[in-house]
Amino acid sequence: MPKTKTKKRILTGDRPTGPLHLGHYVGSLENRVKLQDKYECFFIISDYEFLTDHLSRTEELRKNVKNLVLDYLSLGIDPKKSTVFVESEIPQISELTLLFSMLVGLSRVKRNPTIKEEIKTRGISKASYGFIGWPIAQAADILCVRAELVPVGEDQLSHIEQTREIARDFNRLFGFVFPVPEALTGKVARLPGIDGRKMSKSFDNAIYFSDSPKQVKEKINRAITDPKRIHPSDKGHPEICNIFQYYKAFNKEELNEIKEQCQKGKIGCVACKEKMAKAINEFLEPIREKRNYYSKQKNIIKDVLNAGNKKTEREAAKTLALVKEKMHLDYKLIL
Ligand code: SF4
Repeated sequence: MPKTKTKKRILTGDRPTGPLHLGHYVGSLENRVKLQDKYECFFIISDYEFLTDHLSRTEELRKNVKNLVLDYLSLGIDPKKSTVFVESEIPQISELTLLFSMLVGLSRVKRNPTIKEEIKTRGISKASYGFIGWPIAQAADILCVRAELVPVGEDQLSHIEQTREIARDFNRLFGFVFPVPEALTGKVARLPGIDGRKMSKSFDNAIYFSDSPKQVKEKINRAITDPKRIHPSDKGHPEICNIFQYYKAFNKEELNEIKEQCQKGKIGCVACKEKMAKAINEFLEPIREKRNYYSKQKNIIKDVLNAGNKKTEREAAKTLALVKEKMHLDYKLIL
C-alpha cells in the first residue's frame, strides 16, 4: 500500500541576515517548534531573498546560514520531524519563479502592499527588479513543495496573497497542480528591542540566543524603562516600559508582583532589571548548552542541510515536472 500523506504541509523560514534573537522567538520560533508535531514542516533559509537588499554582504552568507541552523537545532527544530533547506540549493525554485512571472501583470507587481511596506521598513532607496519581483519568488518557495499552509501574523495576510493568486491562476489556465495555500494565522506577539524599537540587528538593540550571560546583563542594563521614573520610590508605568514587556514573555511568575511594586514605587529599575536578566539567562541556559553541543558535532550542519535539500529537491522536481507537463513544456514525447 502506498504511504498516504496525512499531515498538512507547511512552509516558513528565515532570511540568513544574522543570528536569531529573542524577538524571533516570541514572534515565531516558539510557535514553529510546536508546529512540528502537528504538520509536515519545511523550513526555508532564504538566501536568495537575502540578496534583495544585502547584495554587498554576501561574504556573510556561509557564516549566517551555519549560525541559523545552529540556532534552529538548539531551539528545538528537529531534523527528524522537519525539513530544513537552503533556497539556492533548489534549482527548481528559480525555474518556477520565471514561469510564475508570466502570470503576474506589471501593475500587480507595483502595487503589492508587502513590497511597499518592506521598502519603508527596510529603508530601501533604490529597489532592484529582484526586490520588486520578490513576492513571485516567494510564491515559488511556497509552491515548489505544494505547501498548504503558511504561518503568518494576523496583520500579514497580504504577504501570501500573491502566492494564492498565482496558484489559482495557474490551476485555472493549465489545470490543477497547486493547493491554494491558506494562512495559518495566529496572534503574533511582538517583543521590543532594548530601546523600544522593533528588535533588530540593524538597530543594535537585540538579545541573541548566542549572547553570553554577561552580554545579556549588559544589554538589559542599557534597556530604556519608564523615562519619568528617576528614583526607585517614584511611581512607575510598567505598560510603557520595555523591561516589563520582557517580563510578559520570560517571567510571567513575577509579572503581577512587579507591576504592583513598580506602580507603587516599591522596586527600583536596577533591581527589576537584575531579576529580568536572571530570568532571560535561565531561559537561555539550556539553549546555550544545546548550541555548544551541536557546534562540536563536526558534520551536523552539513548533514541537516544535505538531507533537507535532497528531500526538498525531490518534491520540487515532482512539482516542476507536473507544471511543465500542464504547460506543454514537456518534450519527452518528441525528442
Ligand atoms: Fe520598568 Fe521595572 Fe522600572 Fe517598572 S521597575 S519602570 S517595570 S524596569
